[in-house]
Amino acid sequence: MNIDISLVIPLYNEEDSLAELTTWIKKVCDSKNYKYEILLINDGSTDNSWNVISILSKENTNIKGISFRRNYGKSAALNVGFEHAQGDVVITMDADLQDSPDEIPSLYDMIIKDGFDIVSGWKKDRKDPLSKTIPTKLYNAVTRRVSGIKLHDMNCGLKAYKSEVVKNIEVYGEMHRYIPVIAKWSGFDKITEKAVVHYARKHGVSKFGLERFIFGFLDLFSITFIVKYAKRPMHFFGSLGTLMFLISFLFLIYIGVDKLFLNKGAKLIANRTEFYVALTALILGVQLFLAGFLGEMIARNSPKRNVYKISHKSNLDE
Ligand code: UDP
Ligand code: MG
Repeated sequence: MNIDISLVIPLYNEEDSLAELTTWIKKVCDSKNYKYEILLINDGSTDNSWNVISILSKENTNIKGISFRRNYGKSAALNVGFEHAQGDVVITMDADLQDSPDEIPSLYDMIIKDGFDIVSGWKKDRKDPLSKTIPTKLYNAVTRRVSGIKLHDMNCGLKAYKSEVVKNIEVYGEMHRYIPVIAKWSGFDKITEKAVVHYARKHGVSKFGLERFIFGFLDLFSITFIVKYAKRPMHFFGSLGTLMFLISFLFLIYIGVDKLFLNKGAKLIANRTEFYVALTALILGVQLFLAGFLGEMIARNSPKRNVYKISHKSNLDE
């Protein structure tokens, strides 16, 4: 059977929301005659969520469940959902009823009819506490700058993807915040956003605290680095190392010429500030080059060193 839409829903302790959520999705999909599947990924819930999923999936065979033995995080849950999704369009949403299933038809149309790779929800009128919304603004601004992707709301749980996108990207750690960035750097650049309604959480509690912002920024560094330099670490460390050597060299020339020719009676070289600048830069330079060489050795041994995303082939056997 050809499936139009896969709904991928990661959940952690959301027992009270699941029945209402799946009924709502079913209502929307049935009204549009979509062939759909709902993938509920239970991320090691400690409440009754899995029992609820088992019951729901008996009542409606479009509901499929996967359960982790322990809590691995939202990214892991999404990744497993992406692996299993069979639909032409994959839509992710949070399980806590903050995202509205009523958005499904317009998201689906934007992928199928307008031909976008990704449509990201934008919680324009966000129903969350200020402690969350203010840091989020900063974080979105930085991500826009670094990635060049003009989205107001990178980390909205409600997003739609062309199936090819989710089959070609890997989400791990806490990288779900940067799926548009990962996708863009994998070559999917038709990315847009759609303002979506957002509700306050009805049941249960939020699973992410303020540490999300520190982790979020660290992840942004990691993915920028990995995408740009994972296959050529020496270009990153070597450039910085060269800069350090240059600084060191210029300072050494300067104090050398000064002491030998211009100002013979000056202080001892080892008493001069410039000497310490030169020395520190030299040591840093050596360390950066070492990091670069080690990085190259690791990259060379990586089984992924020659893995590229291929979109088309002609006259070549598949
Ligand atoms: N979630 C998950 N694993 C986790 C934490 C959260 O699958 O370790 C799910 C959670 O159940 C919800 C979604 O990710 O469906 C978003 O989480 P939450 O609503 O707590 O985030 P917020 O809306 O507060 O940003
Ligand atoms: Mg939520």
